[in-house]
Amino acid sequence: MQELIKSTAEALMRAKHCVALTGAGISVESGIPPFRGKGGIWEKYDPMEYAHIDAFMSNPTKVWQVLLKDMKSIVDKARPNDAHLGLARLEQLGILKTIITQNVDGLHQLAGNTDVIEFHGNFAWHRCLDCRQRIATHAIDLTTIPPHCQCGGIYRPECIFFGEAIPPQHLMRSQQEATRCDVMLVIGTSAVVQPVALMPVIARETNAKVFEINPERTPLTDNISNGILEGKAGHVMNRLVEEVERQLSTLDPIY
Ligand code: NAD
Ligand code: ZN
Repeated sequence: MQELIKSTAEALMRAKHCVALTGAGISVESGIPPFRGKGGIWEKYDPMEYAHIDAFMSNPTKVWQVLLKDMKSIVDKARPNDAHLGLARLEQLGILKTIITQNVDGLHQLAGNTDVIEFHGNFAWHRCLDCRQRIATHAIDLTTIPPHCQCGGIYRPECIFFGEAIPPQHLMRSQQEATRCDVMLVIGTSAVVQPVALMPVIARETNAKVFEINPERTPLTDNISNGILEGKAGHVMNRLVEEVERQLSTLDPIY
């Protein structure tokens, strides 16, 4: 593992345009459960019954009661963990340029990253289905479910439900970044949700090095990735950033 940490850090130091792709796994250590795998939300709920746009439109009360109410209280409390902070540090060091995230929790921005493509939208904001007025999620009053806007319309999150299209500007920018990057860090994603799982494939096809950080292997491992740093995102990122900083400190200063 230390060898892989070292070679990944070397690749990061050489990178001219590093991009990270993150998934639910990077936020697990912030207390937000993933969808799939151990402790995942879909062990408890059927996604088609609660997370499909048709389910929301036909019975918003049920979806608010079972899924969105809990999601709001979890996301309201969550704070960035060492993995988010490590990515913010890599941006500060001038290495990481952009994050493509599948997450809707806003933790990358809270950690300090400035260019975050929210592929599936965000849960930091809601909007009224009738008058389209926006409201910050933390300001939503849940004394009645579903919560209503002053005009009487129901609030929906700005993240997309299953059955909704990816916002075209997010898809286009992600494809551009995947094509342009020379190193892609793929952190905490099962890489099965499409079309976002294509981004590491595009990156590899256009000659980038792809490194995964995940305690479990994924469909990318052995096919697309140059290596998998196996472990929890916070711990692995701490070691990786430490190694980058160690290598930086051994460079001759340039005057
Ligand atoms: P996923 O739920 O399908 O997979 C989670 C992945 O994270 C798995 O590969 C798992 O092995 C890995 N993982 C678990 N714990 C980890 C840790 N401590 N460190 C690193 N990796 C860890 O997640 P996905 O691939 O992002 O796809 C699910 C969809 O769910 C996304 O589209 C996203 O929009 C949505 N989602 C978002 C959040 C959030 O915003 N935090 C939470 C749940 C789901
Ligand atoms: Zn309204």
